Amino acid sequence: MRAGPSQEDIRRHNLGALLRHVHLGGPISRAELTSRMGLNRSTIMALTSDLTAAGLVREELPRETRRAGRPSLVVRPESARVYVFAFDVGPDRLAVARVGLGGVILDRREVPRDRSRFKLDELAATLSGFARQMRRRTRADTVCVGAAAAVSGGVRKADGVVTFGPNLLDGEVPFGEELDRRLGLGLPVSVGNDANLGALAEHSRGVGAAVKDLIYLHGDVGIGGGIIAGGHLLGGHDGYGGEVGHMVVNPGGRACGCGSSGCLEAEVGERALLESAGRFGAQQGRDAVRAVVEAADRGDIGAQEGLKRVGEWLGLGVANLVNIFNPEMLIFGGMLREIYLGSAAQVRTQLTLHAMAPQRDRLRLRTSALGDAATLVGAAELAFAHVLSDPLEVLARANA
Ligand SMILES: [Zn+2]
Repeated sequence: MRAGPSQEDIRRHNLGALLRHVHLGGPISRAELTSRMGLNRSTIMALTSDLTAAGLVREELPRETRRAGRPSLVVRPESARVYVFAFDVGPDRLAVARVGLGGVILDRREVPRDRSRFKLDELAATLSGFARQMRRRTRADTVCVGAAAAVSGGVRKADGVVTFGPNLLDGEVPFGEELDRRLGLGLPVSVGNDANLGALAEHSRGVGAAVKDLIYLHGDVGIGGGIIAGGHLLGGHDGYGGEVGHMVVNPGGRACGCGSSGCLEAEVGERALLESAGRFGAQQGRDAVRAVVEAADRGDIGAQEGLKRVGEWLGLGVANLVNIFNPEMLIFGGMLREIYLGSAAQVRTQLTLHAMAPQRDRLRLRTSALGDAATLVGAAELAFAHVLSDPLEVLARANA
C-alpha cells in the first residue's frame, strides 16, 4: 500500500504554490494569499516566514491602507537577489538575460547573427561569456537558482538534447550539457523549443495569462507552435509535440526544409511571403517582413497579393488547429504578428469556411503581448520551474 503525501510533501507543495503566486502575480497581501490558496492565516504566516528566512520573498507594510485596523503585510518577490539565466538561440539573434524572481529583466545582452549554421563550441562560448560578464556585475548576496535556453529546434524530452533544427543546428546537439559545463553554475541548464517556451511565456505573463487552453504560433524563418491544453504545455511522448509548422496545408505545394512539401511553414514562412510579394532576395529577416506589410498598407499591389496568399494558408492552418484543439485563444507571435495584422481578413475568411462554428465563435485571435521577448521570457519561466516546485531545497543547493 502506498502512503499518502507526508507533512513534508504538503509543506513543500504549499511553499511552491505560495512562491508561484508571488512570482507570477507580483506583490500580494497575506490576507489575499489566505483566500486565494484556501489555507488558514497561521499556515500562510508560517509559509511566508520560511520563504522570507530563505531570502526568496520579503514582507512589508502596504504603502497605503484605507481600512481601519492592522493592515495585512504584503509579500514581495526578492527580484534583485534571486535570479535565473535565460538564453534565446534564434536564427537572427542570440540573447541572454538575467531575470529576477517575479519576471524582472535585470540585465540583458543581445547580438544579431547571420543565418549560417551554429557551431556548438562557438555558440556555447558566446552565451556563457555573456552570462559570466553579467554575473561579475551582481552583488555578493545574489543567488542564481536556474538556467534555461530556448532554441529554434526539436528538443528530446528524455535528455534535453537538441535533435533537429532544420534552420539552425545539425545533428544531435547536447546543448544544455555544453552550456552547463562552460557556465559552471552547478545547475542543470534546461532546454526547450522556442515556440513551446513562447506559449509558456504568454500563458504565464502575457496576453494569455489565466487562459487555460491556448495555441501560440511563432514565426521566424520557419513556424513553430506551442499548445497549452488544460493549463499544461502539450509535449507529446518524446517532447516534440506542437510542431504545427509541419502540418500539411497544401499537398504538393512548396518544398519544406523538413523534406515534405506544402507544410504550413513552407506556405506561410518568411520565404513564401517574400516570394509571393515578389521581393525575395533583396533583404531577409523581420525587417523584410515588416517592409512587405508596410508596402501593402501604402497600396503596393504586389505586397498586398503576397500577404493575401500567405494569409489564406495561415487561416487554413489555424482552422485545422481550432477544430482539433478548441483553444480559447490563438496567439500570433514572432514574425507572424506582422503577417497576421496584415492579413487578418484572409485568416478570418478561412476560419469561417473551415472551422466548425462551436469552436470558432468564442475563439479570440490575439497578437503576442511580449513580442520579441516572448521566447526569452519563456526560457526564464522554464528556469524558474525547479525553484517553484521545491523552493527551499533548490535554494539550499544554489547557496552551497
Ligand atoms: Zn515541413
